[in-house]
Amino acid sequence: MKGKKKRVLFIDRDGVIVEECQVDSLEKMRFIPHVMQALCEIRQKTDFEFVMVSNQDGVNTPSFPLDDFLIPHQRILDTLRGEDVVFDDIRIDYSLPEDGCPGRKPSTAMLEDYMNGDWDLEHSFMIGDRETDMKLADNLGAKGIWLHDEKSGRENVALETDSWLEIAAFLTCGDVKAHRKAHVERITKETSIILDIDIDGTGEGAVSTGIGFFDHMLAQVVRHSMFNIDAQVTGDLWIDVHHSVEDSALALGKAVRDALGDKRGINRYGFELLCMDDVHSEVSIDFSGRPELVFDVNFTRQDIGTFPTEMIRHFFKSFCDAAGCNLYMSVSEGNSHHQAEALFKAFARAMRTAVKRIPGSSSVVSTKGVLE
Ligand SMILES: [Mg+2]
Repeated sequence: MKGKKKRVLFIDRDGVIVEECQVDSLEKMRFIPHVMQALCEIRQKTDFEFVMVSNQDGVNTPSFPLDDFLIPHQRILDTLRGEDVVFDDIRIDYSLPEDGCPGRKPSTAMLEDYMNGDWDLEHSFMIGDRETDMKLADNLGAKGIWLHDEKSGRENVALETDSWLEIAAFLTCGDVKAHRKAHVERITKETSIILDIDIDGTGEGAVSTGIGFFDHMLAQVVRHSMFNIDAQVTGDLWIDVHHSVEDSALALGKAVRDALGDKRGINRYGFELLCMDDVHSEVSIDFSGRPELVFDVNFTRQDIGTFPTEMIRHFFKSFCDAAGCNLYMSVSEGNSHHQAEALFKAFARAMRTAVKRIPGSSSVVSTKGVLE
């Protein structure tokens, strides 16, 4: 089972962090205005991995001795660290253009391990001041951020600006935040489940469990949560529906938990009052990290069609266990189909509120500092 992929901010050094020149002495080390403030803000408010990517022509040759490079380079890193800006990774190519080294930008040779499918490059950015940086963004399958006082004229550039403050505003606004997604594969001797979720979706997807009524309920979850969910469930229905319903709930709960990650910046709590013809339901949810289900429901019938109503409680209990949430549910007496549907709809809509991102917030809504 995989968690969500991380995004990367590839950042050029010269012309982006410090002024463009051969920085071979401390005197030549001049920071670009607002770079520290901006990187600090991006670090605090986003989940990007920071990777410095730089060509440093001819380091370790007579024209650019290694120490002349290392001393100011280390000072740049130390100064940024003092502002809580730490790079997760640094990739520097020392070759000269005429060497034709495959490690040089815009070639991706020195970044190949970021292209192994484990990283969310589609929602990653390369910040640079040269054409080669924007070509590198293209070659990585990422977007470019062009820090320059002239236009780039390139299609893959998401932002053109001469201001680090604009870059920070762009990268910390809700629009560029990555969709929270997860992929869960759950294979046992009783069921086989493949489930993909995007909790920043539009309420689309196809869920197939082989159980008509259950598919109908899960379709309500997709539509009303606005999550995109694709799930294929194959289970031992020749026994009964128990394993398929339970394992679907476990897979869905795990997927939501994975997609939420460390839950920074989310609402955490959600609730919904919902009426449906002759019944009204009430659901509240807290993605606290702890499982608890309070299910104040009396179904009028034991079965809805061939679907046992006892499995509805079991579905939500299993979801709570896997997602790590508190879930309180009640519904008035009435038509059993309506009772069930009102519960699934309210559950979905309460989740939608709980997972919503609070604009500008990157903190965890807990005095403990974690929601695990
Ligand atoms: Mg540069």
